Amino acid sequence: MNLVSKIFKRTDWYVTCGFGYYRNGGALEFHCGTDYGTNNQRWNLYGIEKGVVLSCGTDRDGSKYVWVNYPRFDKKLLHCHLDRIDVRANQEVQEGTLLGCVGNSGSHCGIHLHLGMQPSGDNCYEDPHTYEYSVPADMMNSYATVYGGPSTILYAPIGSVVKNGPIELLNKENDFYYMSYWTNSGLLKLPF
Ligand SMILES: [Zn+2]
Repeated sequence: MNLVSKIFKRTDWYVTCGFGYYRNGGALEFHCGTDYGTNNQRWNLYGIEKGVVLSCGTDRDGSKYVWVNYPRFDKKLLHCHLDRIDVRANQEVQEGTLLGCVGNSGSHCGIHLHLGMQPSGDNCYEDPHTYEYSVPADMMNSYATVYGGPSTILYAPIGSVVKNGPIELLNKENDFYYMSYWTNSGLLKLPF
C-alpha cells in the first residue's frame, strides 16, 4: 500500500512533483520528498500506526510541519505545508490519530502535501512514493508472557488469544494491562 493512502485514508490524491533532481532554470535542484495534490481541499492527515511525534511547528519558510517516527518499519515521515497541526512533540500516535490537515503554509504552489521520508536513525531522504507500506505477516506458534498484575505472571500461547499477527509489545496504561499485536487492519490492543 502507498504510504500517502494510509496518511489521507483515501486514494484520490495525485503526484504534483516527484522525488529527486530537477532543473530550476539552469540550476540542478533536489526535491527531497513527493508532493501530493488534493484537488485544492484541506484533507486531514492521520497517523498510520504506532509512532511518536518527533517535532512539529513552523519552519523558517513558514511551512507548518509534523515529523513522526514509526519504529516498527524504521522510518520517520515529514508532513509539510499543513494548514493546522493537531499533535504536539513527543505525543504517541496510533493508526488514525489526527495529525492535522493539509494546506499551503510556506508554499507558493497551492494546497498540497509534501511528504518526506528518512530511515529512523538517519537523515538521508528516500522517496516515500516508491516505498511499499505493509504490516508483518502473522507469526503463529509463538508464546507471550502475560502479566496479569504486579504479583501474577501468566503464560498464554498467542494462538489461543490472537487469531493472527505477532505480539508487538506488552504494556500497561493506568493499571490497564494489554498486549498489542498486528493484524491486516492495523495495530489492535487486547486487554487482560
Ligand atoms: Zn515538495
